Amino acid sequence: MLDILEQDIQFLSGVGPSRKKILNEELGINTFGDLLEYYPYKYVDRSKLYSISELSGDMPFVQIHGKILSFETFDMGPRKQRLIAHFSDGNGIAELVWFQGCKYITKHYKINTDYIVFGKPSVFNGRINIAHPDIDLASELQLNDMGMQPYYSLTEKMKKHGFTSRSIEKLTKSLITKISQSIDETIPPFITERLHLVSRDKALRDIHYPKTSHDLQRARLRLKFEELFYVQLNILRYASDHRRKYKGYVFEHVGDKFNQFYHDNLPFSLTGAQKRVMHEIRADVGSRKQMNRLLQGDVGSGKTLVALMSMLIAIDNNYQTCIMAPTEILAEQHLDTIKSFLDGIDVHVELLSGIIKGKKRNAVLQGLIDGSIDILIGTHAVIEDSVQFKHLGLVVVDEQHRFGVAQRAKLWNKSLNPPHVLVMTATPIPRTLAMTLYGDLDVSVIDELPPGRKPIETRHVFDNQMTSLYNGIRKQINEGRQVYIVFPLIKESEKSDLKNLEDGFEALKEIFPEFHLSKVHGKMKSKEKELEMQNFVKGNTQILVATTVIEVGVNVPNASVMIVINAERFGLSQLHQLRGRVGRGADQSFCILVTSYKLSSETRKRIDIMCDTNDGFEIAEADLKLRGPGDLEGTQQSGMAFDLKIADIAHDGQIVQLARNEAQTIIENDPLCQSDTYKMLWNRLAKLRKNNINWSAIS
Ligand code: ADP
Ligand code: MG
Repeated sequence: MLDILEQDIQFLSGVGPSRKKILNEELGINTFGDLLEYYPYKYVDRSKLYSISELSGDMPFVQIHGKILSFETFDMGPRKQRLIAHFSDGNGIAELVWFQGCKYITKHYKINTDYIVFGKPSVFNGRINIAHPDIDLASELQLNDMGMQPYYSLTEKMKKHGFTSRSIEKLTKSLITKISQSIDETIPPFITERLHLVSRDKALRDIHYPKTSHDLQRARLRLKFEELFYVQLNILRYASDHRRKYKGYVFEHVGDKFNQFYHDNLPFSLTGAQKRVMHEIRADVGSRKQMNRLLQGDVGSGKTLVALMSMLIAIDNNYQTCIMAPTEILAEQHLDTIKSFLDGIDVHVELLSGIIKGKKRNAVLQGLIDGSIDILIGTHAVIEDSVQFKHLGLVVVDEQHRFGVAQRAKLWNKSLNPPHVLVMTATPIPRTLAMTLYGDLDVSVIDELPPGRKPIETRHVFDNQMTSLYNGIRKQINEGRQVYIVFPLIKESEKSDLKNLEDGFEALKEIFPEFHLSKVHGKMKSKEKELEMQNFVKGNTQILVATTVIEVGVNVPNASVMIVINAERFGLSQLHQLRGRVGRGADQSFCILVTSYKLSSETRKRIDIMCDTNDGFEIAEADLKLRGPGDLEGTQQSGMAFDLKIADIAHDGQIVQLARNEAQTIIENDPLCQSDTYKMLWNRLAKLRKNNINWSAIS
């Protein structure tokens, strides 16, 4: 039997060729099923009727029952009209107002006929009016049936072509009536029954026309679960396939180099969290499975050290390693840190970046091929095709949000089996999001900062209070500290931003004639940037004026003040990253967020969160909630793109977890996806993968 949901949308009455084209192009609706999955974005209770005398201007949508007494037209300039219908329910009078389509209205609606009018009331000249209301014949509308009315979102183009929410409503209503048989189930009863989920049939009908808000809630839960469940099943199936196909290198023993480092060079003891993560990594690399691990840890939590120890284990087992950083400054900083950590230990470390050319570059490439280089540190230059290793066993990717999956995949091809991969990120990703976006990666978390750190104090300052801010800066520097001052530099407004920074730099030089200042931004030549940076690192300069190029990784323990100019222009996670540049030494550190006086309420929330907490995970959750799922698209570069129709990762964390658990059990029971018990699931998954371009992209 042909699945009715796969019927072409043009077989629905009310959909001709031109509407079909628009539904296709604007909403991707091709079939009955697509339309059914075009869910309303809100509902309005239309079971209640108001009397006109009850109405006031601050009510949301209301519904009244009455008759049009007369029409009145006003000319409002050339070719512009305003039409008013005086509408009465026997007790009061309201004005229905139109600014467009007046001709149609006067032709279409009759005086002295019973209508139900629906719209948003407001008060004008002391009278209630409703602009562009929905009007239905009272005889055609059964209020008892109406309950909650669905509202569908439309694109601008659709509106231009005469589509309204009501016209979509008519289509979904006629579709639901047309589908007389029960819609096929897509989740087996052993799950729906245990989790008390309503059937797919009921859910798809109720999501459009719920009788009660309880029905709506149940329909939503069912559809959200289904959506998230298949996303999880897809990711876990992919991960399990990958594990089966690729064997990992086994790092059997912990050897001399690791021990020498651990016992002789390590200047402090590991935090509990660092120890736990090392255990997790060792279990992976000792197990014959290829590690794909995401290491999350707040800025300054000591991820680099974990990476270094993991690399030493690889080296002790005669493998090469590589660490990839997003910028040259960071690569060089890693080089310095790692070299000084490894002082006196026989490990060959080299740097490869865009600025290393000619003879030097060839020597590095040679050392990689002959296996004499143990650790390669670099920027994305390390994934160029010309870079080949003898025996690459472990790759560390630092600050992962700058690397796409495609780049990671390129790395995998650099050795016989894919090397173990450790992805480090200081942008904590809320668990539920990580599970969905990076569901194929195992996650380790460093949730503890090294001891002795004083929490950073964050303050909000308006830009008319700069004088006292400058005095504060002066005081800190006189006590021997250093200060970052960050200006925004956004692509869209690059020119004026750069000018702001230059002007700011000149002004600051005049304000602080007694100090030395450095300046760093992405438009400078690498050499110049490096020089300025080094001056600050060595303490030759006291103030570093910069853009967000210093956002990730830079480590100057003596810098204890971070000032962010125009903080309103930065996102939460960016502000948190910037703040992470300070608080690395023993001194009390400060982060000062400077904004203009007038702030939107959302910006105010962002700034307040920053002042309230230092916890990266809390900030990440808040960020996700503030920006909402719409912005998740930004994360699609991760390669785990998906297109959620109803679930919302920011708010449906529990359902994500539930879906994950169910999917996990199924993959464990049937890793080859062959069991009859789960046939319904595998068939459905195959279908989803075929129809969803994003989904097939990950395998
Ligand atoms: P992350 O990369 O996570 O931002 P880093 O690895 O740069 O953090 O570590 C920040 C600072 O803390 C470095 O100076 C590092 O040497 C130091 N550090 C790391 N682990 C510890 C520890 N267990 N005890 C004390 N200091 C530590
Ligand atoms: Mg780091």
